[in-house]
Amino acid sequence: MNRLIFEEEHELFRDSARRFFQKEVGPHRDRWLEQGQVDPEVYGKAGEQGLLCLFIDPQYGGAGVTDFRYEQIIIEENHRHGDPGFFIHLHNRLVAPYLAELGNEEQKRRLLPGCVTGETILGIAMTEPGAGSDLAGLKSTAIDQGDHFLLNGQKTYISNGIIGNLFVVAAKTNPQKPRELGLFLVEGGMPGFQRGRKLKKLGLNSQDTAELFFENVKVPKANVLGDPGQGFYYLMRFLSEERLIGACTYAANSNVAFDITMDFIKERRIFGQAVGDFQYNRFKMADMRTEIDVFQNFVDTCVLQHNQGKLAPELAAKAKLYGSELEGRVVDACLQLHGGAGYMDEYRISRMYRDARISRIYGGSSEVMREIIARSIGLDPRKK
Ligand SMILES: Cc1cc2nc3c(=O)[nH]c(=O)nc-3n(C[C@H](O)[C@H](O)[C@H](O)COP(=O)(O)OP(=O)(O)OC[C@H]3O[C@@H](n4cnc5c(N)ncnc54)[C@H](O)[C@@H]3O)c2cc1C
Repeated sequence: MNRLIFEEEHELFRDSARRFFQKEVGPHRDRWLEQGQVDPEVYGKAGEQGLLCLFIDPQYGGAGVTDFRYEQIIIEENHRHGDPGFFIHLHNRLVAPYLAELGNEEQKRRLLPGCVTGETILGIAMTEPGAGSDLAGLKSTAIDQGDHFLLNGQKTYISNGIIGNLFVVAAKTNPQKPRELGLFLVEGGMPGFQRGRKLKKLGLNSQDTAELFFENVKVPKANVLGDPGQGFYYLMRFLSEERLIGACTYAANSNVAFDITMDFIKERRIFGQAVGDFQYNRFKMADMRTEIDVFQNFVDTCVLQHNQGKLAPELAAKAKLYGSELEGRVVDACLQLHGGAGYMDEYRISRMYRDARISRIYGGSSEVMREIIARSIGLDPRKK
């Protein structure tokens, strides 16, 4: 499909990003899968290449490029030629904006340059064993002690939990008020901060997902992000971009799954013809191509709207919902077209099938997206 949203400078950037992922990420994929995490040094290499936190203002070391299309390109090239375990967009656009937009001058000077070079690896810790979709159920607390906040609690399923060295941690600052949250910057090595197990999981096996524990961690006031009572509002503020990032990823994955399947079904012969020559399979591929193209067009429109600051939360929710469900359908059909080979680890589609299952759950599950969309069309029982 001809995509109309990119200019020549985007294509040049894509070429250099592609070379980076082909050289510095893709070749390590199998080893990273074995070790259950990427080498942290890959962040430094991406920093040298100018692929980290492009949007950050030049006075803090960034390039000051806020055009989201560049981030979309990084996602697409990483998912095609790199490895999804390298969670570069978590670092770049899911966590760094908290520091850049909520941080005060001192915090930005102190923390942003390391995010751009890759010396600092970011993570965000919201989810707890008892609270994921429903953040009002958080149990972690951070109590004001005058010159610091005393942080206690436990987080789980935290991406970059092992290799990360700076986490944005959500905790209740007033245990009597479920919606009074603060966001705290916890650095690796702070006394009382411990990492738990690297969790074994169905897919994304080269991505480290871990538990984090906080026992009487003294978080200095200099490490509080914004107003310690407004964390709930802050989290909501970044959700549209988070969902758009998800949508870009699911479109990228669907395209890759389609392309590798196309190669496979042209090669593989059964009953005297290529698998791709059977009418059923040709029509299956035609349906998928149509759906992916339509979705990609929708995502590209959302990206342009986001660039103009006009991406409505419900539109981002639709993109996340539709994209993650589409990705699930595509990888399933593509695996089927591979036959038994599709079930084997050595075929990329088997890994993509496992990796894709989380897309409908994290970053706001499909059910949560439906809830947001239903409310936006006036089906909101809270308002009765
Ligand atoms: C690989 C991985 C990486 C992750 N990375 C991070 C990270 O870096 N940082 C972080 O903070 N968290 C992270 N998470 C956590 C993730 O965001 C949560 O798992 C997700 O928000 C769902 O929360 P939960 O697991 O508690 O499920 P629950 O909230 O308990 O949901 C259970 C079920 O209820 C459904 N449900 C929820 N609301 C409704 C509703 N209104 N109506 C109907 N059904 C509903 C859900 O869709 C789900 O099917 C990660 C998770 C995974 C698996």
